[in-house]
Amino acid sequence: MTPIVTASRVLVLNSGSSSVKYQLLDMADSSRLAVGLVERIGEQTSRLVHEPLAGPGAAGGKREQTGPIADHEAALKAVAAELAADGLGLDSPELAAVGHRVVHGGTRFTRPTVVDEEVLAEIRNLIPLAPLHNPANVTGIEVARSLRADLPQVAVFDTAFHATVPEYAARYAIDAATAQKYAVRRYGFHGTSHAYVSRAAAALLGKPAADVNVIVLHLGNGASASAVRGGVCVETSMGLTPLEGLVMGTRSGDVDPAVVFHLARVGGLSVDEIDSLLNKKSGLLGLCGDNDMREVLRRAGEGDESARLAFDAYIHRLKKYIGAYTAVLGRVDAVVFTAGVGENAHQVREAAVEGLAELGLALDARANAVRSAEPRLISAEHARVAVAVIPTDEELEIAAQAYALVTR
Ligand code: AMP
Repeated sequence: MTPIVTASRVLVLNSGSSSVKYQLLDMADSSRLAVGLVERIGEQTSRLVHEPLAGPGAAGGKREQTGPIADHEAALKAVAAELAADGLGLDSPELAAVGHRVVHGGTRFTRPTVVDEEVLAEIRNLIPLAPLHNPANVTGIEVARSLRADLPQVAVFDTAFHATVPEYAARYAIDAATAQKYAVRRYGFHGTSHAYVSRAAAALLGKPAADVNVIVLHLGNGASASAVRGGVCVETSMGLTPLEGLVMGTRSGDVDPAVVFHLARVGGLSVDEIDSLLNKKSGLLGLCGDNDMREVLRRAGEGDESARLAFDAYIHRLKKYIGAYTAVLGRVDAVVFTAGVGENAHQVREAAVEGLAELGLALDARANAVRSAEPRLISAEHARVAVAVIPTDEELEIAAQAYALVTR
């Protein structure tokens, strides 16, 4: 008799323009079986780093190969070969689905969705809204499907968690017909992270998500804030694209839109040049020449003035959003820091909360200084609002959403 195999594994793919990050998870216990990435796809110096965490390969640790990997198809085939070498191949009956991070779902996709031809066409139609991301996401889906046609491919959208933002917060105050024609509105991004972290915050407080109001500060190289009322997102800082909102590693966040006209008319810059300036040469990088918060902190600590300015601008913007989202929510139960900067930079957390006692925020300095990979409270005992550090886990969230969809 053939043994009954329960398919509980999900392969999560995050395909970027020149990279693919992946994780194989077992949703029976939410454990990770393998993680890795392929970077510099299309160059001579492509690199694949694969780390099996379970099975016979695990003892051998990380494996790395460098050399040209021409395109996403070659990259995913190389990943499939690495997984197969560890007995974790894509042909395994234990694989239940592939979960794909898809950056832009527009207004159409507000839930994880099993990809068929029509869905794929719609994700392609959204490329003008996410020209850097959606093409790679589409390619990832196509290649994964070609490697194993019978496996459900599930698209999990970065925008989906923000679909509940009310119309008056999602709409820009511009001509309604123009906005409608060109799909101009706030979509928000980092949604899987905001969903995961806001739920984890409720768990940390020991309350149902429906009873908890949370401000989530996702501070990575990209950064965004969200206001989540009773588990439902009601406001978020990124907009039509991931450019709006907080000061980021290389993105400006909020600027007067007239900066664009001024640079075009007076500076003679093209639209593409301004796009690149605001997305790739601004933020911390633009203000001080470094986009990595570790460098900014080190230099500011040595008295470097532009690094200090960059840090102060970053913190000032964060405080404005904490204040604004406190007003949006009315009652705040927790402010949560997550992602690279939020999880690691105690100086950022300290400075962002400093002076906000009137809003009920105060830190326990000793708790804030602790480095840990665990969700933890860092607020002072007397503080009205909990402040927490919760490591985000977008891959686990994507896997969980994909798995829930295919096993429903
Ligand atoms: P992410 O996009 O979430 O991977 O975050 C990446 C960013 O986190 C990096 O660009 C750094 O600026 C920041 N980061 C990582 N580790 C630290 C640290 N120990 N202290 C300050 N910032 C950090």
